[in-house]
Amino acid sequence: MSDGPLIQETSSGLFCEIGDFYIDPWRRVSRAVITHAHADHARPGSQAYLASQEGLRVLRSRLGPTAKIETLPYGQPRLMNGVRVSLHPAGHVLGSAQVRVEYRGEVWVVSGDYKIENDATCAAFEPVRCHTFITESTFGLPIYRWAPQAEIFNDINDWWIRCRDAGQPAVIFAYSLGKAQRVLAGVNPGIGPIFCHSAVEELNREYRASGIELPPTFLVSQAPARKTWEGALVIAPPAAANSSWMSRFSTGSTAMVSGWMLTRATRRWQSVDRGFPLSDHADWPGLLHAIEETGAEQILVTHGHTEPMVRYLNENGRVARTVKTQFAATVDAE
Ligand SMILES: [Zn+2]
Ligand SMILES: [Zn+2]
Repeated sequence: MSDGPLIQETSSGLFCEIGDFYIDPWRRVSRAVITHAHADHARPGSQAYLASQEGLRVLRSRLGPTAKIETLPYGQPRLMNGVRVSLHPAGHVLGSAQVRVEYRGEVWVVSGDYKIENDATCAAFEPVRCHTFITESTFGLPIYRWAPQAEIFNDINDWWIRCRDAGQPAVIFAYSLGKAQRVLAGVNPGIGPIFCHSAVEELNREYRASGIELPPTFLVSQAPARKTWEGALVIAPPAAANSSWMSRFSTGSTAMVSGWMLTRATRRWQSVDRGFPLSDHADWPGLLHAIEETGAEQILVTHGHTEPMVRYLNENGRVARTVKTQFAATVDAE
């Protein structure tokens, strides 16, 4: 048995050698514990998966019907080779979990992606005490501070009303898993009908089947051939933005919903009419708050702006360093 850290970085991802499992591995492994169903965390091809009960339907839709997925309700421990593993709400998307790993009194928590602000479509983030906290840092720069989501939803509703009054559709681009449903749950469905791209509607279905209430939606592809779209809110994944699918909404106003819209730092989205900075990740104060709440002695930082976060923590007397949990330097779409 190794004397190394309880969880270590390997070429396949974070690995608990004693428990013999990986967390969000990017290669095929025998046993994968999955924090949530986003593509950069849940990859198909592993022999067995362990994930939260709450997110089973969503994960199943991503991994396919034959994937072997076992689940745990939040908070319920399970022994894996004598290592006690439990999953705790991360507040990121439906079923998202932090992974708590305990062995001989030593506790590590892997956050996965998380946000502190509450979300009508998933369980609220739960701080978990630990010795070592592996935290994401997607928005780990002091410039990232989110406005209260009520303000953002008001802005989205106002824009939708203006589009409706101008006889236009209002087309929102939002990541199909999580963000789209959060937008649906947050807008005022009294303003007009809501249509969704099939990629979004597929996840809406899984959310509803999981007990999450969403307003009624219609499939764009099932609308009558000569339908006019005035007053409609249309929700589509970012990938649809420059596709021929969009030609039917040529008179529409477009918007992107993403934390990146706070600075419009991503050039790709400078052509949309509106940017609504709503994120499913913690902002800078949220990250620091979460780190504080864990009481961790050691903080390992991954995902996004890791260096400024590590520097800040070190300058404030914390033991912190960067770890790599992604195969490539991908940026979270959400
Ligand atoms: Zn995610
Ligand atoms: Zn992520």
